[in-house]
Amino acid sequence: MNEVGNVWTRRGFVKALSALSIAGNSILKINAADSSKESWGRDSGNELAERGNQNYEPWRQSAAWQARVLPRFPDVLVRPDQVRSIPDILENASRRGKVISIKSGGHNVSEAFLRDGSVLLDLGELQDIDVDPVSQTAWIQPAAWSYSLVNVLARYGFAFPVSHCASVPMGGYLLGGGIGYNHDNWGTVASDLVLAVEVVLADGQTVVATRDKHSDLFWAARGAGIGFFGVITRFKIKLVSAPPTVIESSYVFPLSALADATTMLQDWVSLSPADTELMMLLAHDPTIDKAARGIETKMCVVRAVTFAEEQAARATLNSLANHPAIKHAVFDNRNVTTSLESMQIASVDPGMGLGYGRYAVDTIWTDKLPQVMNMILNHFSNTNSARTHIVVSPKQNRELSSDSSFSMVGNAFVGVYAVWDDPLQDISTDKWMDGVRKLIHPLSVGQYINEVDAFNNPESVQNCFTLEAWKKLRALKKIYDPNKFFADYPDITG
Ligand SMILES: Cc1cc2nc3c(=O)[nH]c(=O)nc-3n(C[C@H](O)[C@H](O)[C@H](O)COP(=O)(O)OP(=O)(O)OC[C@H]3O[C@@H](n4cnc5c(N)ncnc54)[C@H](O)[C@@H]3O)c2cc1C
Repeated sequence: MNEVGNVWTRRGFVKALSALSIAGNSILKINAADSSKESWGRDSGNELAERGNQNYEPWRQSAAWQARVLPRFPDVLVRPDQVRSIPDILENASRRGKVISIKSGGHNVSEAFLRDGSVLLDLGELQDIDVDPVSQTAWIQPAAWSYSLVNVLARYGFAFPVSHCASVPMGGYLLGGGIGYNHDNWGTVASDLVLAVEVVLADGQTVVATRDKHSDLFWAARGAGIGFFGVITRFKIKLVSAPPTVIESSYVFPLSALADATTMLQDWVSLSPADTELMMLLAHDPTIDKAARGIETKMCVVRAVTFAEEQAARATLNSLANHPAIKHAVFDNRNVTTSLESMQIASVDPGMGLGYGRYAVDTIWTDKLPQVMNMILNHFSNTNSARTHIVVSPKQNRELSSDSSFSMVGNAFVGVYAVWDDPLQDISTDKWMDGVRKLIHPLSVGQYINEVDAFNNPESVQNCFTLEAWKKLRALKKIYDPNKFFADYPDITG
């Protein structure tokens, strides 16, 4: 059964956000009339803008999810309306000696899809979700949103470990691994549930890679992230049964009790079954009057979400509630029944003010969480934006698949997300992020390819892979893309 995945399209979503008075990028209907699209393929459905066309800059601006659009300028932007146009577009780009950069949803923090002089293949219209309830699988196109997938699958009683944020599309997310809901139970990362990828290669040929066919391409497509060497047009994914209930408990601590909260989070890891997702958030308390003095305006939330039978879920949450550190919590919200759909909607709740805006990220895997939190505490208190936040996610299941290039994991994931609005704060925020890096990187075991600033810190790319996986990725690049037709990881030689 084929469904158009855009239950909420990106444009519809941005409109909805605007209605909520959240600043966003303006998305314009592209008028291709002033472009030379005839020279770019037979398909009249393609939209196109060359640099200098009046529709170019609005399109480039709207390609990025965030408000800080980096000054990198493709020569041409092309949006195919169907997959069969892609080989033609590649052929045209190749004839003109252009490199291809690819965008599914534009969420990548380093905006790796924006490459000077490239042809940007914008796959934003490819959002179909095609569910086969009998085999419990689905074919999904790369721009299908997390929210759309959750919504469509719910109708069939299925689920998938989508991203924690509604607008994240499946393309870049799965290509880099994907750390989503219930990640310790539904695979180690979401790409563990990818059964096949349909890829258009540099020579225009389309292949379907699986564990048995084109297995090295299949290996690469599950973890390589922004350095992948082909256009992924569809993923075949294995679906999981929808959880019988989703129940969560949250405990809010003042930031001064961060050490206690961290101890509780770590103790919970050994107390929780794998179908419990644990998380800690350091954020500005949205309920506090920002002008008030003498009170803490930053908080730390420790949260457990269970995806299990109701009785077992409640038993888990009740046992976690016995932890002695809970006496330091100033507020709690226990045993609240929720759902994947509700959590997706809450992920864009303007009340917390965490989303949209200008955005910089650094992430690490660490085996030394208490030390990292200790290092970060003062630095976090000095952030220049009340929207900046830090997410900590312990990784209970660290079993990595041997047929996947996703190869780096640690005991805990720490993501530092600077979010601000004023362009005049760009420099000071970048400096603040550099300060974070200096503090936490010596305590890291690796990084996560989907959330590194690969252009400002190109060395971070290799930190996302074991040496063995890295060497294999570089060797495969030479085989599948010897002329470097597809944009590579930044600043890479060889
Ligand atoms: C608000 C927000 C919430 C997030 N939450 C999570 C989360 O919960 N868990 C998590 O794991 N990550 C999360 N992320 C990170 C997210 O996984 C990455 O940003 C990911 O790259 C987004 O995918 P995309 O399709 O938007 O990628 P894009 O930005 O469109 O593309 C990034 C790069 O991936 C490659 N690429 C993309 N599509 C294709 C394709 N079809 N074929 C070949 N190459 C392609 C290209 O090299 C491209 O430059 C979040 C990001 C944001 C902004």
